[in-house]
Amino acid sequence: NVTICTIGELLVEFLAKKENQGFSQPGEFWGPYPSGAPAIFADQVAKLGFGSVLFSCVGSDAFGEMNVARLERDGVIVNGITVLQKATTGSAFVSYRNQSQRDFIFNLPNSACGLLTADHIDETLLNQCNHFHIMGSSLFSFRIIDAMRKAIENVKSRGGTVSFDPNIRKEMLNIPEMSQAFEYILDYTDIFLPSDGELDYFGRHQGEDEQLLVDNLLRRGVKHVVIKRGPRGASYFSDQQTWHVPGFAVSVVDPTGAGDCFGATFVSLFLSGVQPEEALNWANASGSLAISQRGPMEGTSTRSQIEAFLAAQSAR
Ligand code: ATP
Repeated sequence: NVTICTIGELLVEFLAKKENQGFSQPGEFWGPYPSGAPAIFADQVAKLGFGSVLFSCVGSDAFGEMNVARLERDGVIVNGITVLQKATTGSAFVSYRNQSQRDFIFNLPNSACGLLTADHIDETLLNQCNHFHIMGSSLFSFRIIDAMRKAIENVKSRGGTVSFDPNIRKEMLNIPEMSQAFEYILDYTDIFLPSDGELDYFGRHQGEDEQLLVDNLLRRGVKHVVIKRGPRGASYFSDQQTWHVPGFAVSVVDPTGAGDCFGATFVSLFLSGVQPEEALNWANASGSLAISQRGPMEGTSTRSQIEAFLAAQSAR
């Protein structure tokens, strides 16, 4: 039985109502919505019926209460979420320039989840997990990276596995902790899930064949590479197999969260023994459902919702 843990930001998100609205003048926003890439991932894992533990911190405020209540309702094991009395729940503001470009203002390092340390990671709870998923967006402080190390060592020492979604936010790339941690984490990664736009950051030089980078990653010790390609679907590579599975034609309401839902669905199904091609198809469906709802965590889906989506697609 698969039980997956994640560590990182649990926050509220506010979404600018108009394209190109920006943040430099008063405007209208939707929200607060529960959010945070590891939280969306954990929510999607739980909705599929797998064990899902999120380690995070929230403040003692209404945002924190809403987030924890939401995750608990969806089946996430929330004992790993610490309520800090003297801190405020993290927040993010997002404004879309168009469907593929967006700007964020994050209030993370100084928020409750930015205060998460290795001491908040309860070993008894960690011992229940056989897989650890890492989100690059969570690597914004040395304290969190330390907590990640603890989880990696624990899970690996018991024969468990690690997955890594770089989930790069351009607003965070100048945080030196983050790029140093990428190298360390890749050394322990079994399943690596970048988007195709992120490959340059991991050593694909301009004009170079993607396969060259994939081969280097596999040689380095990564066992499974999954590349997310937005509307074009996704690909899977291992020493033995390559699969390319096209995406579904859906209209985009809000693209935030697609990669997190995709990753959660692929990783949990694959770990439970589903073959890569089918896991990719389900993950594409999960990503499609995510972008069809406004709000980053509002588009997570249950097993039966994904089944219904796939049935409707094949009937077309
Ligand atoms: P995020 O915006 O959450 O960081 P990402 O960049 O990690 O996402 P994407 O490739 O944008 O990842 O999306 C993940 C998956 O969601 C895709 O592989 C695809 O299955 C699905 N998806 C995303 N955008 C679309 C789209 N416009 N149409 C259909 N499917 C999509």
